[in-house]
Amino acid sequence: MVCIPRFNVYIPKDVSDALNALSQRKDLIPMGGGSDLLVLIRSGIVKANTVLDLWPLRKELAYIKREKGTVRIGALTTISELCESDLIKDIRYAGLADVCKKFSTPFIRNIATVGGNVGAAHPLSDMVLMLLVLNGKVKLLSKNGKRVVDITKFFKGKRQTVRNYDEIIAEVSFTEAPPNSSTAFIKFDRRWGHAMGYVLVGAYMQLHDNIIEDVRIAFDSMGNPYPERAWKTEEFLKGNEFSDELIKQALNDVLPKEMKRITDYRASAEYRLDLSKVLLRRALLKIKSRIEGGD
Ligand SMILES: Cc1cc2nc3c(=O)[nH]c(=O)nc-3n(C[C@H](O)[C@H](O)[C@H](O)COP(=O)(O)OP(=O)(O)OC[C@H]3O[C@@H](n4cnc5c(N)ncnc54)[C@H](O)[C@@H]3O)c2cc1C
Repeated sequence: MVCIPRFNVYIPKDVSDALNALSQRKDLIPMGGGSDLLVLIRSGIVKANTVLDLWPLRKELAYIKREKGTVRIGALTTISELCESDLIKDIRYAGLADVCKKFSTPFIRNIATVGGNVGAAHPLSDMVLMLLVLNGKVKLLSKNGKRVVDITKFFKGKRQTVRNYDEIIAEVSFTEAPPNSSTAFIKFDRRWGHAMGYVLVGAYMQLHDNIIEDVRIAFDSMGNPYPERAWKTEEFLKGNEFSDELIKQALNDVLPKEMKRITDYRASAEYRLDLSKVLLRRALLKIKSRIEGGD
């Protein structure tokens, strides 16, 4: 039997109590639902002395708001809450509905938080890919105030972010997408509810008279061990007419030059690259169909 090592839990009264506690103790580890953190503690990867349980902050930090052209999602919002929201019914955010269909099991979705998905800083953090293609921003709060970081600049390495020890992730946000746009997310894995996909792709596209006015693409990795944008492939596609030929060129001539896949016990680099091409093509076709009124 694997026992979880003993650790202390600090239960804050509210956000300001949590920020006070963090400012005084460098060893406090913030925890949302614990679906990622507790696994790491149990396996000994993270040594925890005291965990700061953020769940009591749900009264302040669990929400989905759409105000003044901006979508704001509180960090303590669970994946289940997001999946039950009206937001994912909006065709522009159909990629979030795709995430819901592929995100683990109901049990995990009920405890996994949006902020925790970002904080986990893992290549296979599903929500992060959608936030990358929606030009998401991460709001960090500390006792000294707030700062907002572009999600493209949030990750430093696997499980490493620019978050300082005294900050919590309070919110993620993005500007409402224009009407003639949509999103898609595809995760290739072996079975439903499996935690680890082989390749993940998220995409956003805005079309006008079949011209790609804007496109954003994110993969679980472009070379670094965290989700990233495929900037050069985006640039190549932008401003051109959507066609099979254009997509083929992007997949064969541009993507392989900017993507560095790895080989490990789960899949080879060649297989991952091939899969990345197939999934990106499917995602772009899916978005086109969504913009044109299909699914
Ligand atoms: C069986 C299983 C299946 C899974 N399937 C998926 C899947 O399909 N897709 C997927 O993307 N993920 C999956 N995961 C990973 C995990 O569930 C998600 O990353 C989840 O969103 C993490 O949220 P959490 O609230 O549980 O984070 P936690 O485990 O509480 O925290 C994760 C990390 O973020 C930090 N953190 C959390 N919240 C905050 C905050 N507000 N401020 C600052 N730091 C914070 C923690 O310190 C920790 O480092 C799975 C995990 C398991 C165990």
